[in-house]
Amino acid sequence: MSRIYTIVSQGHSQEEPSESMRNYSCPKCGTAKTRLAPRRGVTDRLLSTLTIYPLRCQLCTHRFTTFLGKLKANPRRNYDRVSVQYPAQVRPVHDPSQRVVVEGMLSNLSLRGCRVLTSQRIPMGCQVMLEFHPAEYDDPIMVDGALVRSHSAEGIGLRFSSLLRSEERRLRRILDLRLPDHAI
Ligand SMILES: [Zn+2]
Repeated sequence: MSRIYTIVSQGHSQEEPSESMRNYSCPKCGTAKTRLAPRRGVTDRLLSTLTIYPLRCQLCTHRFTTFLGKLKANPRRNYDRVSVQYPAQVRPVHDPSQRVVVEGMLSNLSLRGCRVLTSQRIPMGCQVMLEFHPAEYDDPIMVDGALVRSHSAEGIGLRFSSLLRSEERRLRRILDLRLPDHAI
């Protein structure tokens, strides 16, 4: 007589993208690089009682809502920042001589902003241009317009306000390689 044994595989199962995982992907561009977005306004609050939360696509900025089925705290950031180490130069736009150049190191990056480690000071709210050199590319990436949004002992935080489409495409490729899938 032979016995039938059921072998339970432990941790070797191939992970199939489940239905819910597909719901977390961006309906506009299809990427899995999405994250839970901050909730704002009455509609978001009402939907959140049903665990329907807003998500933000990290590559095309599309915002959409999806059913999660579990409670989640309200996040503060719309965009995940990836850690990088790229040489960077920051130039205040309204410097008539265009000679003031702040040299630093880009330490993190998203589609909408970054942090530059530098000992030099630029005032809050100052309009700047940013140039940084990713290891992946021969040419540096130029950000036409950015705003100094925060200061710390180590450097400055920038929010991008204007970016050429070609530069945004290159930036997106860097993020696509480094961002986690479904940061929920
Ligand atoms: Zn998208």
